[in-house]
Order: sequence, then C-alpha cells, then structure tokens
Amino acid sequence: MTTIPPLAILRRKGGAGSRISAVLPHSALDAMLDAAYETNRRFRHGAFAEPCPTCHVSPGELCLARRSVHAARRLAHRARVAQTSVTPLTEAVPR
Ligand SMILES: [Zn+2]
Repeated sequence: MTTIPPLAILRRKGGAGSRISAVLPHSALDAMLDAAYETNRRFRHGAFAEPCPTCHVSPGELCLARRSVHAARRLAHRARVAQTSVTPLTEAVPR
C-alpha cells in the first residue's frame, strides 16, 4: 500500500483525466458518474432539459440507455442553446 495521497499522484503523473481511473476503483467511478447524472437530471441541466427523441423520455428523466444520454438528445439541447440569445444585464428592465 502506498502512503502517497491520491491527489499527489494526480499532480505527479500529469493530466487528471487520464490517471483518475488509476487512482480510484471502478466502483467509485461508477458512483461519481451516477451522482453526476442524477444531479443533472434533477436540476434539468444540459441534455436532461430536453425530451429524448430516441427513447421518448420526458425532460428531467434519465435515458433508458444505462449511463448514457442519446446523441439525438444532446443534439436537441445544442440546437436549443444555439437559438437562445443572451440578454445583457445592461438591457434588463426592472418591473
Ligand atoms: Zn434517450
């Protein structure tokens, strides 16, 4: 067993994304992924704000594919974001 803390290993070996699987067990990675998907689903972030054209789930629900978001759902989200214009704060009018 090593006495080096996991974060020190990440810093020493370079990119965190490439080495995180070497530090964390698969069960921890699965739990992290599940938590991230659940958080995005709950607050309807990203693609979870759209209904899925592939598996026909409503916004705020997980796709029926386990641990995946269908590509059509991601594309629908990107298309909606591209159509949305941002209102600058200087143009906001208080009511
Ligand atoms: Zn889907």
